[in-house]
Amino acid sequence: MLSWDIAVNRAINNAVPKVYKVLREHPYIEELAKRLREAKLEVLNNLEKYVEETLQSVKNNGGNAYYVHDEKEAQEIVGKIVGKGKIVVMGKSMVAYELGIRKYLESLGNEVWETDLGEFLIQQANEPPSHIIAPAIHMTKESVGKLLKEKLGGVDENSKVEDMVAVVRKFLRDKFVKADVGITGANAIAADTGSVLLVENEGNIRFTTVAPQIHIAIAGVEKILPTLADAMIEPLVQSAYAGLYPPTYVNLTSGPSSTADIEHNRVRPAHGPKEFHLILVDNGRVKANKDNVLREALLCIRCGRCHFHCPIYRAIGNIWGDPPYSGPMGAMWSYIVKGDTKPAMYCAHSGNCKEVCPMRINIPRVLEHIKNLGLHSQGKDKLDYK
Ligand code: SF4
Repeated sequence: MLSWDIAVNRAINNAVPKVYKVLREHPYIEELAKRLREAKLEVLNNLEKYVEETLQSVKNNGGNAYYVHDEKEAQEIVGKIVGKGKIVVMGKSMVAYELGIRKYLESLGNEVWETDLGEFLIQQANEPPSHIIAPAIHMTKESVGKLLKEKLGGVDENSKVEDMVAVVRKFLRDKFVKADVGITGANAIAADTGSVLLVENEGNIRFTTVAPQIHIAIAGVEKILPTLADAMIEPLVQSAYAGLYPPTYVNLTSGPSSTADIEHNRVRPAHGPKEFHLILVDNGRVKANKDNVLREALLCIRCGRCHFHCPIYRAIGNIWGDPPYSGPMGAMWSYIVKGDTKPAMYCAHSGNCKEVCPMRINIPRVLEHIKNLGLHSQGKDKLDYK
């Protein structure tokens, strides 16, 4: 058996039953998912208005807010904020990967560390991610032990997983303390308050958002929700459908740190970051929102459930899609951000993904649409799989 088959089968056998158990034990989650879909549709129907409101709300909190069209603009802004010769810690962010932020900051002479365990492992292995919430899913515990033995020492192929995690924990704690800048993504952003919501289990995002002097959150415009009440729903739904409910941490950031402890006069900063920057990213999303079929993909909350129910992902998931976007959602997002129609061509239309998606995205329909767009753009009437 190939190592991909071993690793993905172990992960599927662990993850799939957990989601069903969570949904059975917490029946309100499905109701929250419906409310979340409605709130996300409200933003997509009025995207420009909500982008403007979000940018203003962040500024009202004493933060800085930017809207960028593409990778180049995003890199320029992040580069200006970070500068050179800094230590940067990154919470898990797919949009940062999409925009090549880590590699760009390294090229400026910064020391950049991924702090999510899976992201840290693939950074050390110099490999692309193979799942949106478990980027090192293609690695067996034996291969992780071997990698850590080479890079950090203290463990090997036969070590317990707990010991492997402890070695990385010890290494990264030092980086969190010394970091100048923390960069995260966002699970949800509230337009009315400018607050950024992040859900996690490791504690790395909490460190990244609070320990360094500067926090940069970078996220696609589709992460905006109308109100903070709507945004608070997202971490609950996302973590439940990821099979990780309840989440260990939900982080909420509304601008730089502050205190009102002297005469109830709110001043900034306090103990946390002095600066907060939110970068809202288009990079193909606004165009996708104008396409009635494609816009469904913008409802995705990155739970990763569709991957585990897809026969194609099970067979070739480690090479399916443009990193960081893999699996059924990745086939949609490879087109949105890169204009790549090839990943959609591999869809066999089993329909499982649609059945399990919490946002009720008709993924097979979106992928069929992308296939047609690909064929028309090539002036062809038959598929080209090369
Ligand atoms: S497409 Fe649906 S199931 Fe797949 S990651 Fe997105 S929200 Fe989850």
